[in-house]
Amino acid sequence: MQRFFLSEIYRDLSARLRSGGIENPAQEARILIEARGGLTWADIIARPETPVSESCAAGMLQDVERRISGEPLSRILGVREFYGLPFALGAETLDPRPDTETLVDSALRAFEKRPAERILDLGTGSGCLLVTLLYKWNQAFGVGVDLSFPALRVARANAIRHGVADRASFLNGVWAESLLGTFDLIVSNPPYIPNQDIRTLSKEVQNHDPILALDGGADGLEAFRNVIPEIKNRLTPKGVAFVEIGFGQAVEVARLVEKSGLVPSRIHADISGVERVFEIRRGDK
Ligand code: GLN
Repeated sequence: MQRFFLSEIYRDLSARLRSGGIENPAQEARILIEARGGLTWADIIARPETPVSESCAAGMLQDVERRISGEPLSRILGVREFYGLPFALGAETLDPRPDTETLVDSALRAFEKRPAERILDLGTGSGCLLVTLLYKWNQAFGVGVDLSFPALRVARANAIRHGVADRASFLNGVWAESLLGTFDLIVSNPPYIPNQDIRTLSKEVQNHDPILALDGGADGLEAFRNVIPEIKNRLTPKGVAFVEIGFGQAVEVARLVEKSGLVPSRIHADISGVERVFEIRRGDK
């Protein structure tokens, strides 16, 4: 059986990804080798002569072919890192975005002095928001709601993987319609892409993210029209909600927040400086 050196594989995969038009070829080659070879970056650097079996190398080459044909690496590997934790993905879950980490940051900051106790995640998908927050606050309890059963199964698996499943409930439902009770933290990354814009998104997104997690109706605001009034009913008096929004939606979302009798207290920008996360409070006197 032929064996290859790790350094050769790294160079070869990077070159193939580069000529296939992938933006960060070396980084993706590294992630692929780490995941498929059970190796670390330190192995690639410090032990370039580590042998890699022919079958392992062949598997990596197949992954590279899929990647070049437009499948995101996270989908090929079935896992995406979010806020430093690996999350399993499914066909019906959105691939978590770095932009959404802004929401976690904002929520953690808002509860710096006293951790949140009861968390509600509307449209939980892979569970990345809820599971990350439960992981950070080891006394908190959370409910994740999703319209998709397969997504809920993935979210639950992620909760188990990160040791928070005994403090998480995953429910099938339409936003908070079937829930009672109140929460001191509500988070949501609802679909917000106007449906005529979906065909302008990258082929990675269009062909591999579930439409249910993207499509915000004709103007992109349809989900907010349902989610925001429900936040009003499910938030404790001193509670805070954090809702992700799309590019340029801040003014209209603020209007919906006010119309529901809530206060649009702040907007948090993402790593690219785009207004991304709405902080919403009840504003009770
Ligand atoms: N941020 C995602 C994108 O632009 C959309 C996610 C969403 O609709 N919540 O692809």
